[in-house]
Amino acid sequence: MKQAALLLALLAAPVLAADDPLTRPITTSYTDRWMQPRAPIQIYGKTWMAGSVHLNTAVIDTGAGLVVIDAGLPQFEPQLKAQIRSLGHKPSDVRYILVTEAHFDHAGGVAALARDTGATVIASPYTVAALRKGQTGVEDPQNGDLKPFPSPKRLRAVPDGGQIKLGDTVITARFTPGHTAGSTSWTWQSCAPKTGCRAMVFMASLSATAADTYRFSAPEHAPVVASFRQSFAKAKAFPCDYLITGHPEHSLTDDKVAAAMRTPGSVSWEDKGACAATVTRFEDRLNTTLAREAAK
Ligand SMILES: [Zn+2]
Repeated sequence: MKQAALLLALLAAPVLAADDPLTRPITTSYTDRWMQPRAPIQIYGKTWMAGSVHLNTAVIDTGAGLVVIDAGLPQFEPQLKAQIRSLGHKPSDVRYILVTEAHFDHAGGVAALARDTGATVIASPYTVAALRKGQTGVEDPQNGDLKPFPSPKRLRAVPDGGQIKLGDTVITARFTPGHTAGSTSWTWQSCAPKTGCRAMVFMASLSATAADTYRFSAPEHAPVVASFRQSFAKAKAFPCDYLITGHPEHSLTDDKVAAAMRTPGSVSWEDKGACAATVTRFEDRLNTTLAREAAK
């Protein structure tokens, strides 16, 4: 009996070794979309949009290492490393991983990517605390609907307006709370030799998404609505030539992404109105939700 158990353990060993807790799949009904592979897309200069067809990650080549913004699902991380290699870099070139929000669809893969690259993870103080726990708290409008995710090591908090400098690039943290209390957008300049520098934005989700029982109009949630309003005003005023959103559908049409994948270089991503237009859609969503709640 003992020998049989030992034999079973030996047979099972390779399977156990392959089960990486940091890239273990988080099951969701959206996984088909969020895992759908695509090649990285050059947005402008040395800024790339990596990730899957329906979850974006930014990769910025600073000339002295890479900065990555968001990392998608845990199970996507091996693909993200392959995308970094396809751009001619090593995963160990990643120096910083910046996080827009502590939800599993954007931050789930951060722990594995930080481990595999040695990078430092930078986020707002709220997001750093949530990353330590692998989830946000009861104050999150989506509390109860969210999957816990692996917690990364080497975390560093940045204040609102704080700058991350690496190589030729300076990236500014701009707190845009609402969707989570720690949501942070990131802005930087990306430059190209002949056409100069442009203002780049990776905007955190400003989507008023909530669990079924949550009411944005409840008096105790007035501060959440107020922080959304402040973030809308702030994000509309970002210097914004190029916009990347974690969920592409917040700022782009599927057609545009599909065209860029079909014929690389065929699509211009420059859109000075993208930040304002995207924020207006988020604003409409919150207003519609508040109106629906009031009608009940
Ligand atoms: Zn979220």
